[in-house]
Amino acid sequence: MSNITFPDLQLIDPILRALTEENYSIPTPIQAQSIPHLLEGGDLLGCAQTGTGKTAAFALPMLQRLHLTRQRYNRKHARSLILTPTRELALQIADNIKNYGRHLNLRYATIFGGVGQNPQVQALLPGVDILIATPGRLLDLIGQQHVKLEQVEILVLDEADRMLDMGFIRDVQKILVHLPKQRQTLFFSATMPNEVAGLANSMLSNPIKVEVNPVSSTAERIDDQVLFVESTKKSSLLLEILREHDIERALVFTRTKHRANRLAKELNEKRVRADAIHGNKSQNARQRALADFTDGRLRVLVATDIVARGIDVEGITHVINYDLPNEPESYVHRIGRTARAGTSGIAMSFCDHEESEYLADIEKLLQRRVNIYTEHSHHAEAIAENHAQYVQRRSGAISRRPSSPSRGGRGGHGAGRHGGGGRRR
Ligand code: AMP
Repeated sequence: MSNITFPDLQLIDPILRALTEENYSIPTPIQAQSIPHLLEGGDLLGCAQTGTGKTAAFALPMLQRLHLTRQRYNRKHARSLILTPTRELALQIADNIKNYGRHLNLRYATIFGGVGQNPQVQALLPGVDILIATPGRLLDLIGQQHVKLEQVEILVLDEADRMLDMGFIRDVQKILVHLPKQRQTLFFSATMPNEVAGLANSMLSNPIKVEVNPVSSTAERIDDQVLFVESTKKSSLLLEILREHDIERALVFTRTKHRANRLAKELNEKRVRADAIHGNKSQNARQRALADFTDGRLRVLVATDIVARGIDVEGITHVINYDLPNEPESYVHRIGRTARAGTSGIAMSFCDHEESEYLADIEKLLQRRVNIYTEHSHHAEAIAENHAQYVQRRSGAISRRPSSPSRGGRGGHGAGRHGGGGRRR
């Protein structure tokens, strides 16, 4: 794979120039595998998470095809549609597309909820080549006849599993009704739970399947470690780590929005520049926090899973799981926020008494152990106790079925996570 170059992929000169300017020299595996097929107009089922270069994998051939089949614009019509679950991802994809397409003369619009619709309506009015949208606002604007999708030539559904998690699948299905049957469709998902696979089947015809970096294999460049700690000592442990390690830019995950706010406040009180980013924050506040983090004005960004999914900030040296996720897949997504595009990163996970079962689930998914970090071990008792529990649980978890009734719930958010229909994967 490594000796394939971008010119080998038959990309046109204006795109190659943009890639050179972006300092991309070698296509990533998903790019090398997808681009030739997509340039020919084929469908694609991509099993890939962010960090693999999947945005360019779909965007480059899309730009090229739209450029080469240039048509007159029809008012309010979009020639292609990229559906994505969050505003952050929409903005990020739009950013990438503008970069890759900077030497082409194509029109774009990005639409998402949480902000006034008028500028979006204005952007759609003359017609666009590429529309990047979140499902809710798009449906709204379709309903108001501000956008028309009957002439869409290319559809990209990004992060389908996240769409499912966020309850957007019905919206997606309603949007599909407005698209022509004759079109190129690209479907991306990091994981393939049954409902997602069903949706993919209904949308794609003869797709090539490209699978890179499956969710159970975290990037090797990430050094991940677990630190056992009492739940009440997590914030002092975090401060200690921030003090003692050379941490320039850390993304810290908490379980809830409330905990994210509280932690950001506490860090600021201790003179660590931090902000929180989650679904309750306004779009402006989220973008400001992200920009401050990107520009180095914040040292710590505290986030919850949903908004963090698309964060692609260069130079995140550390991801810290202040709380372990109860969905093991989230662990992979979270730690994938560091070690982007060839750099290396460190992920540290705090594990309290009740989280040891989550750790066992994570290791089961990864099919490997996460290293135990033993410095900062002055919370010795908690560590010994948690460690013993963890060892016991992980040996059970590897051999026991995940839905075993013997696993006590942890009440609250943990209870019932293996109940009902079982696991998502
Ligand atoms: P993505 O998976 O699309 O979110 O991309 C992850 C990161 O990799 C982004 O920061 C891209 O700018 C970067 N990237 C994508 N393709 C390449 C490439 N061929 N060479 C270097 N960096 C890349």
